[in-house]
Amino acid sequence: MSDSAKSETEVTPTFMSLPLRSIYVHVPFCEHRCGYCDFSIIANRAELIPRYLNALQKELETSPHLDSHLLEVDTLYIGGGTPTLLSAGELEDFFNILSDYFSLAPEAEYTIEANPDGLTADKIQVLKSAGVNRVSLGVQAFDDSRLAQLERTHSVQQTETAIELIQQNFNNFSLDLIFAIPGQTLDEWQQMLSKAISFQPPHISSYALTYEKGTRFWSDRNKGNFQSTDDELEVEMYLKTISELTNADYDHYEISNFAKAGHQSRHNNTYWSGRPYLAFGPGAASFVNGQRQSNHRSSYTWMNRLEQNQSPIVSTDDLTAEERARELLAIGLRKRQGVNLDELSKTTGIDLAVCCKNEIGDLIEKGWIQRESACLKITANGLLFADEIASILV
Ligand code: SF4
Repeated sequence: MSDSAKSETEVTPTFMSLPLRSIYVHVPFCEHRCGYCDFSIIANRAELIPRYLNALQKELETSPHLDSHLLEVDTLYIGGGTPTLLSAGELEDFFNILSDYFSLAPEAEYTIEANPDGLTADKIQVLKSAGVNRVSLGVQAFDDSRLAQLERTHSVQQTETAIELIQQNFNNFSLDLIFAIPGQTLDEWQQMLSKAISFQPPHISSYALTYEKGTRFWSDRNKGNFQSTDDELEVEMYLKTISELTNADYDHYEISNFAKAGHQSRHNNTYWSGRPYLAFGPGAASFVNGQRQSNHRSSYTWMNRLEQNQSPIVSTDDLTAEERARELLAIGLRKRQGVNLDELSKTTGIDLAVCCKNEIGDLIEKGWIQRESACLKITANGLLFADEIASILV
């Protein structure tokens, strides 16, 4: 086919031209590695923070997607790791670097992840001066023995102090919780939820404990050192999460996320909606021009490469347009409001109702998704099979 014939028949996918309005920055430092964690982190090496900051500056300076103009963004998300492990002075340097490249749109959402230990009043002042307006706090449990079991470095007392400090300074914050900790009962989890609700956080994320290959929990469980929570109890805990939080006026807007009105995570909605975002730091993955690019997961290699004027990017996916569209459908179904097939087809240039006809029919027959005019939505039953739904579609 000639180029001119192509241009007459092919639709340019709209997502190639969606503006970049979201940024993620990964800060890899943690006090130690929790037994269940498989994130890209560096444990107990705070002396490397200045080197990280220099590398981050270099990554931003050399990004092909940034130029000499400030990029105005709607969402900026600082994740980790434990970003608040940086001292107040280091946090100031960090935010100064970012402010050379990004400006916040009016009403922008600026989130930082924090752990209860080390979130001090002076750091809070630095966050506020930088424009941060949302804190996502890694609570995980309101029980010191469960925190010890998860190998967290904070206590319940520290969590309560941190929440109080956050409430005094921010209107918007989120608490992260973990359920299905070995030995945890349904009653215990219910008490944990009640305690979380008592602080009236605008947003709660709640995840079952997972055992990722390569983590210490994964190998300990395989050696028989402990038993993970059985599937039936895990499902009961998940259903309890939904009922308790929705009864407390939280909107269950994504499989693991709950928000008071107007407090959904706008940044995460960018991921779930297939809009583009740039990501910086070790292990960070960007989605831009319909392509996902990932940085090296090792913080050391990421720093070395930047110091040697090499790109930190180690993989660029080569998904076809249809594979990408299927992936976006699978991700989009995580949102309770569902996916508008017409819109997604326009965005991706792929008619999903045609190319996924059999899979969609199969999922509807199983009762895992339902169709409401142009929208596909996950059902209450489908929430329990989210991973299976994704693997059928992708
Ligand atoms: S604090 Fe979070 S990021 Fe750090 S090791 Fe523990 S689970 Fe991983």
